[in-house]
Amino acid sequence: MNILDTPIEFLKGVGPARSELMRTEMGVRTFGDLLHYFPFRYIDRSKFYPISEVDPESAMVQVKGKFIRIESIGAKRAVRMVGAFQDDQGNIMEVAWFRSLTWIKQSIKTDVEYVLFGKPGLFNGKLQMTHPEIETVANFSKPLKGGLEGVYSTTEKLKARKLDSRAIRKLMETLIPQVMHHINETLPGYIRKRQELTPREKALKDIHFPKNMDALSKAQQTLKFEELFYVQMRLMNIKAKRNKEIRGQVFKAVGDNFKTFYEKHLPFELTGAQKRVVKEIRKDMGTGNQLNRLLQGDVGSGKTVVALLCALIAIDNGFQAAIMAPTEILAQQHYETIFDLLSEMHVNVAILTGSSKTAYRKKLHANLENGQIHILIGTHALIEDKVKFNNLGFVVIDEQHRFGVAQRSKLWRKNTIPPHVLVMTATPIPRTLAMTVYGDLDVSIIDELPPGRKPIKTVHRKDSHRLQVFGFMREEIKKGRQIYVVYPLIEESEAFDYKDLMDGYESIARAFPNPDYQVSIVHGKMKPEDKEFEMKRFADGQCQIMVATTVIEVGVNVPNASVMVIESSERFGLSQLHQLRGRVGRGADQSYCILMTGHKLSNEGRKRISTMCETNDGFRIAEVDLKLRGPGDLMGTQQSGVMDFNIADIVKDTDILQKAREEAQYIFDNDPRLEHEQLVLVKHHLTSIMKRRPNWGRIS
Ligand code: ADP
Ligand code: MG
Repeated sequence: MNILDTPIEFLKGVGPARSELMRTEMGVRTFGDLLHYFPFRYIDRSKFYPISEVDPESAMVQVKGKFIRIESIGAKRAVRMVGAFQDDQGNIMEVAWFRSLTWIKQSIKTDVEYVLFGKPGLFNGKLQMTHPEIETVANFSKPLKGGLEGVYSTTEKLKARKLDSRAIRKLMETLIPQVMHHINETLPGYIRKRQELTPREKALKDIHFPKNMDALSKAQQTLKFEELFYVQMRLMNIKAKRNKEIRGQVFKAVGDNFKTFYEKHLPFELTGAQKRVVKEIRKDMGTGNQLNRLLQGDVGSGKTVVALLCALIAIDNGFQAAIMAPTEILAQQHYETIFDLLSEMHVNVAILTGSSKTAYRKKLHANLENGQIHILIGTHALIEDKVKFNNLGFVVIDEQHRFGVAQRSKLWRKNTIPPHVLVMTATPIPRTLAMTVYGDLDVSIIDELPPGRKPIKTVHRKDSHRLQVFGFMREEIKKGRQIYVVYPLIEESEAFDYKDLMDGYESIARAFPNPDYQVSIVHGKMKPEDKEFEMKRFADGQCQIMVATTVIEVGVNVPNASVMVIESSERFGLSQLHQLRGRVGRGADQSYCILMTGHKLSNEGRKRISTMCETNDGFRIAEVDLKLRGPGDLMGTQQSGVMDFNIADIVKDTDILQKAREEAQYIFDNDPRLEHEQLVLVKHHLTSIMKRRPNWGRIS
């Protein structure tokens, strides 16, 4: 047995009780697990701040000096210990304790030199530190101290068992000499050389006990690279396996339907990006692999026509196509758009949604099975088992995040040979994240808007300027435009939010009275039919203002709507704001987005608003969003389980990720079965990882 597999209870200083706790609280079962329990930050133990330079706003600092006075202050419950701590320049900082007073009284001396470590602050205008970590200088300068000291995360339960950061560090001091020389490389020599990585053994030692910044950063680089490399290897391995196991339909020809449509009926010239993406998809469809592609394109970038062109290729090869949208309205809009575009061609398009009538369904089912219907557009009604195709070859899933993994795989099974699948999303995902989360999907990006679009003008207005905003709305309506007014609806405060929405609606209805104005309202508590009715009224231009909660977030296309007013906009996330804004700017007119907020804004809220005012670029917005929120709660990431990195940071480590991906790609391009002897290590390590994470295969 490898020593790294030794159960943790056999490490000196652990024992059965602590080992149980380490398992549940730290996820540590073996020596190897503990070795991979890395510090989450480091204290520079070599540096002492002169008290005169300590900033009360700063994070943790370390100071050295003596207590010139320690006394007990206050009475009874308010009693506390306060000390005056002086450094060798003679400056003084106050130190206060509210707990463990007896211990402090007994053990802190006035003639001994101490090192204090803690978060400074201000109390009554004076610099103060409360409950600092405290150590005598004599103790502090023992071997292995000095340099950088790792800080390990712990929990209350661990601390109760005296397993604080310091104790964990002690365990590392015991562990590391024992396991050194038993640590194997996981990366082939040529990669380590090319990427200038530290030997793994050294990296693992330095990550716990770095001598200096340089050693630490080399260790981090190495371990991050390793982690990201294997993430990529896993994803590529899944993809390679799928390609091996699943044969895709081969669409050899680009036939008459495609050509006729392209040459005669396409109402505009495709943008360069659209052309490129169509080519990419066409190429995939011809290979015999099953197409699994994510198409990202900002709102309004023209994804629909790309989907249609690809559907025509399927039809030209004797197959049917399906397009699935997340809502009834969207399905209806796709249907109308595509029906119009194809009106002069012999392609049969049908729609199926939850509200399709029984008689219609019956006929539709029959015509699907006999192959008369070429393109079926609909909601998730499409995936019901009753819906059977004659020969389904191509599936488009629009606005991907509304569909779960299970639903997608149901579509696969609609045909003996699974259809090609194109997933389209308007929620831009930063490249780095896409590489990780969708590493097993191919990604195409439409990064260009159709020509002639006027960029949406976005402004920030405080609530106190509402009357001016109303005035502006009136002018736009006079020009024949329509307006959305959106209110946040956050579930926890639902009642409160509905009240806001209704109050807002009433004040708008007062400011824009009948019969000159028509105001619609749509929210989640309405019956679907009523919602549809109101949305349709707006889409048909019968009312000028649509007051809504975020139900309009996804996909509706009303080109005449040119103003988007977002109330309490500071409460929306960035990508949501961007999605909402994308509802306007679809016609030829200048469009506007007005972000209303109260007077007080958090720093983050302010950053979101200013980002929106500065840019219309969905990818830039997504990057900022990722930085503000961290990757944890981005769409789709939880279910894939890819985000729990041990050391890599997907936001900051883009460069390393890129390199790791290139190396992994190189391997899969040249030796997908990892047969070369240089890859023995890789194969071995990958197999053990794949075993540990059985869920990985289900990402897409
Ligand atoms: P999205 O990517 O948000 O789904 P759509 O496919 O709905 O965007 O397209 C938005 C609008 O742009 C539609 O009205 C569509 O007809 C139009 N459009 C798409 N491609 C082009 C193009 N190349 N040139 C001009 N207009 C285009
Ligand atoms: Mg769309």
